[in-house]
Amino acid sequence: MENPLVKCSIANCEYWEQGNNCSAEVIMIEVNKHADRPQPQTKDGAAYDSRHQDSASGITDTCCQTFAERKH
Ligand code: SF4
Repeated sequence: MENPLVKCSIANCEYWEQGNNCSAEVIMIEVNKHADRPQPQTKDGAAYDSRHQDSASGITDTCCQTFAERKH
């Protein structure tokens, strides 16, 4: 399966690029209540989990856990 083009408006993220494009190799989306949950796997420094599952109550209940604040 081909990876989707990920569009994101979070411009202060290390992975954000011009045109609202995400350059991360892997992106982990979680429900908000698990935003700080440690993930057991990593790829290129990004943490993720291939097995844990959740159910969101709506689009305002999800977040990108791969976000990393840009330092420069
Ligand atoms: S890692 Fe998440 S927050 Fe950062 S640019 Fe990609 S989708 Fe946006």
